[in-house]
Parts: sequence; C-alpha cells; structure tokens
Amino acid sequence: MAKKVVVVGGGTGGLVAARMLATESRRLGRDLEVTLVTASERHYMPPLWSEVALGTASVDETWAPIKNAERVYGFKVLVDPVKGLDLDGRRVTTENGKTLEYDFLVLSLGTAYGWSDYPGLDKYGFHNYSPEGALELKDALFTFKGKRIVFLVPELPFRCGIYPLEMALNLRAYFESRGQEPEIAILYPGNAVRMALGEGLERFFLRRFKRHNIRYEPGFEKLVEVTEDRIVTQKGEYPYDLLVKSPPSRLPKLLADAGLAHPADPRFSVVSGPRFQHPDRPEVYLIGEHAMPPVGLLTAGVPIHNAAVIAAASILHDAFGGYMIPSYAPTLCFGHSFESGFMGNCEYWWIPEEGKWGHACYTVATGPTVRMMKDSFYRGWLDALR
Ligand SMILES: Cc1cc2nc3c(=O)[nH]c(=O)nc-3n(C[C@H](O)[C@H](O)[C@H](O)COP(=O)(O)OP(=O)(O)OC[C@H]3O[C@@H](n4cnc5c(N)ncnc54)[C@H](O)[C@@H]3O)c2cc1C
Repeated sequence: MAKKVVVVGGGTGGLVAARMLATESRRLGRDLEVTLVTASERHYMPPLWSEVALGTASVDETWAPIKNAERVYGFKVLVDPVKGLDLDGRRVTTENGKTLEYDFLVLSLGTAYGWSDYPGLDKYGFHNYSPEGALELKDALFTFKGKRIVFLVPELPFRCGIYPLEMALNLRAYFESRGQEPEIAILYPGNAVRMALGEGLERFFLRRFKRHNIRYEPGFEKLVEVTEDRIVTQKGEYPYDLLVKSPPSRLPKLLADAGLAHPADPRFSVVSGPRFQHPDRPEVYLIGEHAMPPVGLLTAGVPIHNAAVIAAASILHDAFGGYMIPSYAPTLCFGHSFESGFMGNCEYWWIPEEGKWGHACYTVATGPTVRMMKDSFYRGWLDALR
C-alpha cells in the first residue's frame, strides 16, 4: 500500500516539500500519497507585500491559488484549516470534520504575530506583514508629511530579518523622488544584523545607511510601550511621526495545542537537526519558520526552502529504502533598495555537539540586476501556480 504523507500549511515550506515528494516519487515510479492541507486558498509570496506598500504591486499579484498545485505538481490539496494534530494516533483533523491518517507528517505553519504582547504595539504604527497591513502602510506613506520615520523591531529573532533594512532603503528612495527628506531610523533590541548575518553583511549595510542617511540603532534592550507619538524602551524614548513595525514571533496555536512548543523558547517549535524531525517522533517533520531559530537558522523563506528539501528527501529515503539526503545548502538572499539591489550568501555547517548550524555570510553582488532577479524569482514562483 502507498505510504501517506500529510503536509500541513500551504505557504513556502509546505509547497516546496509537497512538490518535491510528489514529483520525485512519480519520477522514480514509486507510490506515495501526498496531501497538502491548508487554511487558505491563497499561496502568498509575502515579500511582495513590501511592493504593495510602495505602490508597485497589487495584492492580487502577491498570491496564486494553491489548488492549482494539483494540476501543476500532482499532489492533493485540501483547503480546510487543521483543527487538531493527534501525534499518537498519526491523524490530522480539520475544521470541516475530515480526518487524514499519515505515515509521515510535515508541518510548516509560518509564525503567529504577538502584536498585543506589548502595550500600544497593536494600536499604533503600520506594517506590511499582511496584505491588509500593506494597503494601510501604502496610504500612510502616500499621505506622509512628517519628519521622523522609525522602524521598530520589538524582539529578536523576528520574521524576515532583512525586511527593515530593505524597506528603510526603499523609503529613502520613495521620499527622495517626492522632494521629502524625512529622518529614518531603525531600532533593534540587540545587534540583529551582526548576530543574524555576520560582520561582512553588517559592514555592507552600515556603508549603505551612511550613504543614505539612515540611523541604525541596535541595543535598546527591552521595549516598554508604544504610544501615539513615541516608542518607550528601557534605554530611552524615541519620538516618531510614522512608525513602521515588525511583529514579535509567536508559535502558531495549532502547534502549541499539540504540545510542540520548544522547551527552551516557547515562541518556536521543537525540532532536531539535521533532518528537521521531532526529537522523539521521527515521522514528524517541522520545517516552517517556527522551527528555524532552535537549530540556528534564519526566519525567512530561503532557509525554509532548504529545510523542506531535506525533509522531503528524508521521507523519500525512509519510505523507499534509500534516497540521498542532501546536506543544508548555502543560501543566497536577495534584497532590494528600490532602483538597486544586493545579494548575500550564507554558508552553513552542522555542529552536532550544539545541535545547530553555524553560518558565515558575505556580500556577493550589488546592482539593479539583483533587484530584477529578486522580482523575477517571486513573480515566476507564483506564475508557475497560475
Ligand atoms: C514583509 C515580508 C517580507 C519578507 N521578505 C522575505 C525575503 O526577502 N526573503 C525570504 O526568504 N523571506 C522573506 N519573508 C519571510 C517568508 O515569507 C517566510 O519566512 C515564509 O513564507 C515562511 O514559510 P512557512 O511555510 O513557514 O509559512 P507561511 O509561508 O507563512 O505559510 C503558512 C501556511 O500555513 C497555513 N496555515 C495556518 N494555519 C493553518 C491551519 N490551522 N491549518 C492548515 N494550514 C494553516 C497558512 O494558510 C499558510 O498557507 C518575508 C516575510 C514578510 C512578511
């Protein structure tokens, strides 16, 4: 009988894992029943929400129907939010009353946003961490006449660490063309850029910030509250006219309810490397953003893509009695600063005694072509599903 794989989550990790499982098993002439269950008919490419805020993309350009993966990649898609994970019984139940049994389970559920975990953070400021948020930020930018724009990152690590750096450079260009020169500052609780990307990429960003007059202020330690016109931290107060905020990462409820919180940091899920398995249940793979920090990886789509490939290969290996499992590949990340772009490469190595990957990153290229590569990648990814 064909082994059954259930993939929960129709975002980056879920799509990559299900696609590889279905296409590789078909190519090898082996039976594997792959079902992806997801809460939304929309497969989003979240980085394009920045384009929505800048007015250069519509919300409809940021997603493609996940159901089309049935036709394009040949796995089943069920759009029905998962309500419960029965890990002992190897079953998944959905809100519409379906039960799916599995031999292997892949979980890729992104992250939840803890906006209400700091006073005022849910009430004040704008963001583009959702399509609706991006449209609100677009209006706020269009009508902005003030002096001070502040990017606030309340906690580390947070969703897509490169976002405020990219968006701050974009906003400088956005306002320059309108003849406005607001002060732009980025506030982090710690030295996030050096911690996440290393000294090579930190140097690159510091040079760019100097050239474009962007104030980079790491190390406010702890956010106390956000008010109508200022950010209050343990180190001091920062007034703003426009606040652009990033969300604190929180474990998705489905994972918390299933007892999958990481014991050392419940904002993230349990996971063990280097195959992204549950520490005690090797048939359960955790590859979403919620599983990246515990094994030393960044909270972005690129590492999740790698994790999905390793998990899919590991399942093919166990299901078919041998399939080479790749090691974690170096990751290229693309950023853009409106008319231009930059590309960083991170190399990784597994450290068994720490149960984590170590990494070193460096700048590879800059220039408008990189920006075009980034845009083409996102748009081509979605076009493949249309
Ligand atoms: C503004 C912004 C900019 C970004 N820029 C970059 C970038 O430049 N480079 C980069 O690499 N990454 C970037 N990212 C991060 C990247 O988008 C995420 O890290 C990645 O999408 C996470 O993948 P995931 O599979 O874990 O979750 P997601 O892609 O968030 O998908 C989660 C899926 O789970 C589904 N789901 C939720 N609850 C349930 C449930 N109960 N049952 C079933 N399904 C459920 C959702 O419908 C969704 O399909 C950016 C993100 C944002 C918001």
